[in-house]
Amino acid sequence: MPEASIYTLLKSHFGYDGFRPLQEEIIENALSQRDSLVLMSTGGGKSLCYQLPALVLGGLTLVISPLIALMKDQVDALRANGIAAAFINSTLTASEASRIYRQTQAGQVKILYLAPERLTSPGFQDFLQTLNISLIAIDEAHCISEWGHEFRPDYRNLKALRRQFPQAPVIALTATATERVRQDIVTQLGLDAGRVFQSSFNRPNLSYTVKPKRDSFQELLDLLELHRGEPAIIYCFSRRDTEELAADLSHRGFAALPYHAGLDSAVRQETQEKFIRDQAPVIVATIAFGMGIDKPDIRLVVHRDLPKSVEGYYQETGRAGRDGLPSECVLFYSYGDKVKQDFFINRMEDATEKGNAEEKLARMVEFCETPGCRRRFLLSYFGEEHPEDNCGGCDVCVTPREEFDATEIAQKILSAVIRTGERFGANHVIGVLRGARTKRIQETGHDKLSVYGIAPDFTQEELREIINSLFDRHFLLKNEGQYPTFAVSQAGRGFLQRRETLTLSRAQRSRETAPVRDASALEYDQALFERLRNWRRRHADKKGLPPYMVFSDASLQEMAYYMPQRLESFARINGVGKAKLDEYGESFLSVIRHHAHTHGLQEKPIPTRRRERERDRTAQRSGSTHEETKRLFGQKLTIHQIAQQRGLSEGTIIGHLERLALAGEELDLGHVLPPPEYLDRIVAAFQAHGAQFLAPVRDSLGDAHTYEELRLVRIYLRQRDRLDEGK
Ligand code: ADP
Ligand code: ZN
Repeated sequence: MPEASIYTLLKSHFGYDGFRPLQEEIIENALSQRDSLVLMSTGGGKSLCYQLPALVLGGLTLVISPLIALMKDQVDALRANGIAAAFINSTLTASEASRIYRQTQAGQVKILYLAPERLTSPGFQDFLQTLNISLIAIDEAHCISEWGHEFRPDYRNLKALRRQFPQAPVIALTATATERVRQDIVTQLGLDAGRVFQSSFNRPNLSYTVKPKRDSFQELLDLLELHRGEPAIIYCFSRRDTEELAADLSHRGFAALPYHAGLDSAVRQETQEKFIRDQAPVIVATIAFGMGIDKPDIRLVVHRDLPKSVEGYYQETGRAGRDGLPSECVLFYSYGDKVKQDFFINRMEDATEKGNAEEKLARMVEFCETPGCRRRFLLSYFGEEHPEDNCGGCDVCVTPREEFDATEIAQKILSAVIRTGERFGANHVIGVLRGARTKRIQETGHDKLSVYGIAPDFTQEELREIINSLFDRHFLLKNEGQYPTFAVSQAGRGFLQRRETLTLSRAQRSRETAPVRDASALEYDQALFERLRNWRRRHADKKGLPPYMVFSDASLQEMAYYMPQRLESFARINGVGKAKLDEYGESFLSVIRHHAHTHGLQEKPIPTRRRERERDRTAQRSGSTHEETKRLFGQKLTIHQIAQQRGLSEGTIIGHLERLALAGEELDLGHVLPPPEYLDRIVAAFQAHGAQFLAPVRDSLGDAHTYEELRLVRIYLRQRDRLDEGK
């Protein structure tokens, strides 16, 4: 297939001017009859990876998905783009289903969505045999693995499906897969010579903010005011909280609806529907909300209470901004929430389960208390390095910092840890330092210590932050256990004895909410955008479609920026394909023309293939730094030497090598790998623990190796496995 034609189809059927990262490679791979495993974060644009090849290939594309609730949406969205799509699942009546069977057999359907259980239903096999299937897409592919958290026994039948249509390449897609699950998908589906496409976990258009949970109701009102009229989800811990908060917000003029698993299913359905159709922008929910919806334009996700795990937090915040436009994630944190959750964890009976829950919660608390970049924390949690020092999109990175002399307060904290016998955690020590009168402090007699009440000028949060910095410097150590306690390390004792000075940095003022970064930075006309949004809703209601299926926010923003007033310039707006141009072009043009005329505004020239140029520019920019690393690495320089020469950290250089290897570069790693006997040990540890997370591997080796070393070996392993696959 010549290059030009996938671009032509991209514009004519989907309206887009360019591909998102990896989409093009995945599509090409499918078109050359090869299998792919696609690991892409939410909002990465997975659907296009099979929808576009479906248009190029002669026969039918089957899409297997467990999310019945989403099938209709997907099919509606495709039809709105003039693509012949249909679905078969249990929501259809027998006669509706047989109509779809007939249409499919007559070649009138290009993309057919199926629920996996259908594959075992009698008669369905005979139907399948009559079809010319040219591509099989498996959505939520992690459901095939028992190691995953959403195992579906029906997914096991997919192996047979694959054998039945050996000529059809398979695209397996998922947003969540650990190394183990990933291996399982490959084995279970028998993906041969398959390629793995993994996109970054980073969501550059999302900003992350953690705020202390004080006055959180007022702050929530401010946030909602800032996002008035825009879709928002507020997550709460308990069902009752969702109802109370929704009522409180409604009293203050934000029509908010509660959503939780305890509500009647008809009510839940209706709430979800209203949200999708932009009739109820604010939902106050437990985490039960969000799985069954694909709404791409959620602009705000708030966690009013502490999430249970970083995975959960990442998944819930991930529902914001799937369309790539700037969106905000705000979490209200208090240590009290952690204590509340401990209460539930303590009631768990299974010891392993309990241990896991504790560990996960501890990592979540760490995220909230980190003195470093939130994005970097999230990415490193998923084993990924963030190349920039300042992400520009989290509260930590955007709040200006100042250095201060922390010598005295550090001495006080360390002394308090020692005086209290190194048997307590942060809360107790902070209480002692601030002179709190808790029962525990009185019982332990710690109110009689010389360190009692010696730091009254520091707030609880400030002390927590300083304590975290002392951990970062390894002056304090954590004793793991049911109740984590601290001890002062050798380094910490040295610091006290030698009367060294210590400088730390802190936020200049209380942390700001990270501003949302506008990647496209279109200074569009707000008033026109609002008009277009209303206009879009009118059309959507008339057709019974969610508004985002008429046009995305991104498209409306372009309209409100360029103000096209002729059909041929309107056609150049990103997101306007042939079908939508015919259907809505004139109607939206009339709104734009009217607005332009009233305000004396002109149409701005719309560059053709703008996305492509933009993409090329970014590719060049990031490409050049990787290229430079590759060049030096090729000259057999060590990581240390390259880092020195380039003025970058060793971690960043290794990050470049990881990217290069993922992009298919064949790197000769000989001069940076550990000697063979160590290499074998590390390889064995990776095989035992998987390669997704480095910490367990490092632990199992007794801390004998640095993370840098492990990452290099991981690159080596991935290259080796790829070579094996290619044989
Ligand atoms: P995922 O399934 O990976 O979460 P989707 O396939 O739902 O992602 O795509 C997320 C959003 O991105 C959708 O609103 C989609 O229309 C949009 N999108 C996908 N590919 C492109 C592209 N090449 N250009 C612009 N928008 C895109
Ligand atoms: Zn940051």
